[in-house]
Parts: sequence; C-alpha cells; structure tokens
Amino acid sequence: MEEKTTIALIAHDGKKPEMIEFVKQYHDELKAYKIVATGTTGKRITETGLDVDCKLSGPKGGDAQIAAMAAEGQLRGILFFRDPLGMHPHEPDIQMLMRICDVHDVALATNPATAKLILLGLQKESLS
Ligand code: PGA
Repeated sequence: MEEKTTIALIAHDGKKPEMIEFVKQYHDELKAYKIVATGTTGKRITETGLDVDCKLSGPKGGDAQIAAMAAEGQLRGILFFRDPLGMHPHEPDIQMLMRICDVHDVALATNPATAKLILLGLQKESLS
C-alpha cells in the first residue's frame, strides 16, 4: 500500500477556532493525508474524528519538531494558522519554521484562505 502524504497543521490559540472550522469543512480532503500537528492543535483536531500524530505543544518545541520534519523532506505542506495579533514566547521557533519552509521549498499556508488553495492544489496534483 502506498504511504499517505504527510501534512502538518498548527494553529495559535487565537486561531484554533478557525482551524477547527477548517478541519470540519475539509474533513474528507484531510482524511487522504497523514496529519501531524503541534500538541494542543492536534488534540483539538483529534476530537473532530481525524487521526493525528501529535507532537509537543508549540511553546515546548512542537514547531521545531515540525520544522525538522520539513527539513528532512517528510512534509508536503504546512497549514499554519498564525495569530498576528498575539505575542508568542516561541517566536524564534515560528520564524525558524517559516525559514526552513523557504529553504526547502515546502508549501506553507499561514491563513485559511491559502490553506484552502494548498489543499485544492494537492488534490489536483494527486489526480493528474
Ligand atoms: P499548540 O502549538 O498547538 O500546542 O498550541 C501551536 C503554536 O503555538 O505554535
């Protein structure tokens, strides 16, 4: 059996409600992927019925773990709902994650509008 493509989901606290809405809206599309997530985001997503490989919570190193996966070529995309209005103790890890995505050309959405386009793009790619 072919391995599922892996995507990562992360949402800052102020954006978790939007992430859960997004996950519910795209539940069928997301089921096609292996999903990894930062700890708290992952736990919330699990409650919607999706299987999630939960890493550490963001402030405890979850973003860094996901960045390492991106650097090792394990991720096809990252849907990261950032809260631009909040302060984050792990801001250096967030910057590192975004930098790693640019270094390794990993698709990174930082808001729901772009996340939707990435999902649709991946779907189109898998059909061609
Ligand atoms: P969390 O981490 O899912 O554990 O809340 C997200 C983040 O703050 O980067």
